[in-house]
Amino acid sequence: MRKPLIAGNWKMFKTTEEALSLVEGIRAGVHKVTNCTVVICPPFTALDAVAKALKGSSVDLGAQNMHPQTEGAYTGEISPVMIKELGCRYVILGHSERRQYFGESDLFINQKVKTAIKYSLIPIVCVGETLEQRESKQFLEVVKKQIDCSLADLTKEDIAKVVLAYEPVWAIGTGRTASPEQAEQMQSYIRRLLNEKYGQDVAQKIWILYGGSVKPDNMAALIAKPNVDGALVGGASLKAESFTEIVLNAAKESLVGKAS
Ligand code: PEP
Repeated sequence: MRKPLIAGNWKMFKTTEEALSLVEGIRAGVHKVTNCTVVICPPFTALDAVAKALKGSSVDLGAQNMHPQTEGAYTGEISPVMIKELGCRYVILGHSERRQYFGESDLFINQKVKTAIKYSLIPIVCVGETLEQRESKQFLEVVKKQIDCSLADLTKEDIAKVVLAYEPVWAIGTGRTASPEQAEQMQSYIRRLLNEKYGQDVAQKIWILYGGSVKPDNMAALIAKPNVDGALVGGASLKAESFTEIVLNAAKESLVGKAS
């Protein structure tokens, strides 16, 4: 069984001082949880301080982005080696905000995924359709292309190190969550694609998270679905109480719901 994974994407929020206070609340809130992997992804500027504040806790650290090269003349960019040095184990790649505001293509994301794996970082690769693509019934096709291109040329061993996140763009930061059925439809489709490409053994090992307006009160119904293995949480990860409640609800539901 895939143990739930809940990752908090803090986006461009929290100064270092604010980050430290949030981490303290999250550490205290989740310290008894054993059947859920918890990851927080603060802004780059807070990574060092947060890594130190997480010492001795089971909460993992992730970055929100990285450049595919290890070093070079790329003003303003951060390399995999740099985030690794700060203690990151995870890195979010291909978030729709990166695709939309910074023009990131599947090809560029694919380069990042390969470098992340090379440097033993676990990439959380985001895919998802816009509202227009959903309404015109192209959503399966759009996500298939994103999966095919952003994960191109990965071996079975590589793909097993990737975490996927289905994040419908229309659900991000809008308060409009995909229904558990919509999430399951897409996520079971993604697992079928992985199955066809890499075989059942590998496909069953891959975490597929859902992201898009996840809140404490919708987490249990989402994670009860067989192919929803956790969540990538934006807004609700910025408060210790709501993030903790999401983690606790996911952990509880995975014991009572999926295990039965
Ligand atoms: C996200 O940024 O990945 C996200 C899912 O945001 P929110 O939870 O605020 O919709």
